Amino acid sequence: METKGETTTLGGINDFSVGAGELDELWIAALGEIEIQVSKPNFITWFKNSHLLIKEGNGATISLPNNFAKEWIENKYCKVVLGALRALDETITKVDFVVAGGKEAVAQKKRTMNQSPAMSVAQTEFPEFKIDPETNLNPKYTLASFIVGKSNELPYAAASAVVEDVGSKYNPLFIYGGVGLGKTHLMQAVGNEIKERYQGRIKVRYVSSEKFTNDVVWGIRNKRMESLKEKYRNVDVLIIDDIQFVIGKTSTEEEFFHTFNALYENNKQIIISSDKPPKFMPHLAERLRSRFEGGMMADIDYPDYELRFSIIKAKLADRQAQLTEEVVQFVATKLNKNFREIEGALNRILFFQKTKGAVITPKMASEIIDELVQAPSKNISPNEVLRAVADSFEVSIAELESASRKRELVHPRQIAMFLLREMLDLSYPNIGEKLGNRDHTTALYAYEKIAKEAQKNQALSQKIMAIRELISGE
Ligand code: ADP
Ligand code: MG
Repeated sequence: METKGETTTLGGINDFSVGAGELDELWIAALGEIEIQVSKPNFITWFKNSHLLIKEGNGATISLPNNFAKEWIENKYCKVVLGALRALDETITKVDFVVAGGKEAVAQKKRTMNQSPAMSVAQTEFPEFKIDPETNLNPKYTLASFIVGKSNELPYAAASAVVEDVGSKYNPLFIYGGVGLGKTHLMQAVGNEIKERYQGRIKVRYVSSEKFTNDVVWGIRNKRMESLKEKYRNVDVLIIDDIQFVIGKTSTEEEFFHTFNALYENNKQIIISSDKPPKFMPHLAERLRSRFEGGMMADIDYPDYELRFSIIKAKLADRQAQLTEEVVQFVATKLNKNFREIEGALNRILFFQKTKGAVITPKMASEIIDELVQAPSKNISPNEVLRAVADSFEVSIAELESASRKRELVHPRQIAMFLLREMLDLSYPNIGEKLGNRDHTTALYAYEKIAKEAQKNQALSQKIMAIRELISGE
């Protein structure tokens, strides 16, 4: 999966660079909803480069970059997409999907343009942000736009210190915290600031863990490790986001370790983010753990009310939009998990305000948010995992649990072992016992084998993703 520097979220994954029209605006708001309903890897994989191409009568047509995405979304997410659109525009009662650039899509786009030229005229100018190919940084993330509160003042201070004193003071800088709390924003802001301040004399590179993993896998497969080394070791500042996705992937972690050392020994700055601190990363090799812990660790915590309030105000100012004080207070009180959720809610509220031409009241805001906030994820049982694996391979649970070593059972059983570990964190002895009274080493082997294969084999990783979806039931 090729991701841009920015690994997720509204607009960022879809290039709405030219002045976005009404359709784009509607689609951005709908994506906000979809993003909350599907898992992050799925959202990025399937909704990247999607657009709302046409809205005609009661139908909406979404364009997708390829056939694969089209089929997948048609089969799996049709309802989610329709639901998200309908919540914003109740006249929409059906959606269909076309492949972008396909004849059909082009013809349809032409038709819409002819019919209502106004639609293609920009209604709201979305700021145009281009990822810098040299550094892979998104210029929209700046320190100036990072609002500081109690929950993030330490990482902010550390980040600012790194800008002043690159490579020596806080090295590595390790920022950790939950989803949507501003890790990517802060790290990219440091990169942008360094780039600007030192006018290119200090070479920065930002990379997501997915991208790094892809590069390593590609380098190994094509025997081009030299150019990979060149790319990642020939910088003064390496920023690597969401390192938890690299940990435990043998060859990628190994390559990262060497990259880290090469940079570290030459006093180059390394900035890392993770969803948890090193001590809670069970698969992290000891040698990396001690390196990480030897630098500056800073956690971003959940924002308090003041910070949530200030961020909402700042986002409104950014967009030159207005909401009453009451509504701002209401949103800041109600949404207390993370900024991504807050942004999603704001997108929808502003969209309503604009289309309905009404002043939003707290009651309306409340209804909009209620629709948006997802039911808490339910607890998953081992049997649900087995059920989903059995169904998707057309075997029975009893067969998975049996001692049989038939080939058509071995593979699904290994996937079941993998998922029991990955999703439920069951112990290996426990997994082995559950699946045919096998030794814990069998479960361990299965886990590692599938983890490794899924890295290289896209069909397998997609299959696993699909099973996970079945289990968590969208
Ligand atoms: P993470 O990487 O921790 O998941 P992000 O950096 O992607 O989180 O933040 C999610 C969204 O919230 C982004 O749009 C980001 O710009 C915004 N955001 C997060 N923290 C702040 C902050 N302190 N000030 C302003 N915007 C923020
Ligand atoms: Mg992030």
